[in-house]
Amino acid sequence: MDFENWGAQRWANHFNQMLNLANPPDRYRFDVGKLAVETSRSLFPADPITKVAEEELDGFAGALVPSESRTRWGIVYGTGQSPGRRRFTVAHEFGHYLLHRRKYPNGIHSSEADVDGRTKLEVEREANEFASWLLMPLDDYRKQISPKDKPDFEVLGQCADRYEVSLVAATLRWLRYTERRALLVASVEGFVKWSWSSKPALVSGAFIRTSRGPVPLPPESAVGREMFTAEARAGVQHDARVWFNERVREFSFRSEKYDTAYTLLHLGDEEPRRWIDDEAQLEDTYERFMKNA
Ligand SMILES: [Zn+2]
Repeated sequence: MDFENWGAQRWANHFNQMLNLANPPDRYRFDVGKLAVETSRSLFPADPITKVAEEELDGFAGALVPSESRTRWGIVYGTGQSPGRRRFTVAHEFGHYLLHRRKYPNGIHSSEADVDGRTKLEVEREANEFASWLLMPLDDYRKQISPKDKPDFEVLGQCADRYEVSLVAATLRWLRYTERRALLVASVEGFVKWSWSSKPALVSGAFIRTSRGPVPLPPESAVGREMFTAEARAGVQHDARVWFNERVREFSFRSEKYDTAYTLLHLGDEEPRRWIDDEAQLEDTYERFMKNA
């Protein structure tokens, strides 16, 4: 088969079909590193993956590195990652191996934002797409949360457990297919570090731009008031002008380990209001956002 032309989704579907047929007891919590080593050995005997290991990576979350002889590859994940993060990072680097190793014979290093697919680099988005599709197949995920559902962190956390990924990875995966207007916001000490909007939210103008520097949290929001209570986690309703010029339901909690607060925002289910009449301008805004995201 001509694997050179296979894209991220095709590779992910290939392994998902294989896993569906094998139907192991813990179908969605399989060992990704083992899958990478075993399948690369049979598919690409000339340069297989022979090592999956933890290393100090100096700011990077993961890397795909060649051996000196260039006949072996290693997947490395940075120290201190939760089991779910680690698993996603390994899948991401496996994606680089399948899709990009010929183009990058010296290997690839990935930051945390790269692994999450939040950077503009095409190769990073492709590796993220592969990891997302491999670990959280869309057909199964849509059975857990339908595109019209309004999940809270409880429901998204159950998906993170099901697929053994981080809550952030599970939430970003859902945001990429939902028909709802929603955002995930990550903040540290009162400032938005990054945020990600679903496409319906994005095209209706509901996004937070962080490419020009940190953005202060809205002072009246639960997360802005550091209200990390069970109530805030379960959802607080806000009037217009707290987050956006419309009513918003906010779900916030603080991750104890990383000192980062995570906020899920559900916006109204009305049709996206075209805040720019001109279709071309709207497209332009979207393109610009994607480039700066
Ligand atoms: Zn990467």
